[in-house]
Amino acid sequence: MADARPVIGSVAPATWRIRLKGVNAYALATDEGTVLVDAGNPGDAARILGALAAAGAPPPRTVLLTHADVDHAGGVRGLLRQCSPRPRIVAPAGEAEVLAGRGRPRLMRRMTRMMTGRLRCDATFADGDRLPGGLTAVATPGHTPGHFSLWRAADGTLFAGDALVVRDAAVDLPGRVFTEDASAARASLARLAALAPRLLLPGHGDPLPEPAPALARALEALGWSDRR
Ligand SMILES: [Zn+2]
Repeated sequence: MADARPVIGSVAPATWRIRLKGVNAYALATDEGTVLVDAGNPGDAARILGALAAAGAPPPRTVLLTHADVDHAGGVRGLLRQCSPRPRIVAPAGEAEVLAGRGRPRLMRRMTRMMTGRLRCDATFADGDRLPGGLTAVATPGHTPGHFSLWRAADGTLFAGDALVVRDAAVDLPGRVFTEDASAARASLARLAALAPRLLLPGHGDPLPEPAPALARALEALGWSDRR
């Protein structure tokens, strides 16, 4: 059955979730123009731009990537082709290397390269860097080595990327096969929980408000509480 839910929906003031096939992107209206967090799969650019237009938001000026997997970075090529002026592409330093064609990434990031070709980012970020949209870069390695989440301290909104997934209002790590370093992923989840977010916006799954109990349960299930 066709999914009747709208493609774009407000999740916080000036903040939208864009529902793509199996993955979310997010958009923020800022003084510096629209900021897009992640860009979906190859072929998703038109859906993203259509959703933004429906919400009355201009095309993105900046695209922030959490990591280089094909379902997060795959739509960048299309956005560069379809947006004028072209948006700035900004990615974690380690993931930008992969997008540029360096290193030997695993499947999901290799697919980005296969499907979109090499991609040169306009800028990169590192842990603690301040980014457009009032966001701060938080290194959350594990799912991929260079993975980052993005933290908006002003209202406690966390753009988690694939540092975690949300299923039925429960938090978990992405499946083992999609986790390059499980112990780093657990530590990253603990780091995110320590931020005490008010709203969790995952790459996969539904937004989760007041996620502290769900984060605590996830860490307990992963055996993290024993390690402190
Ligand atoms: Zn991923």
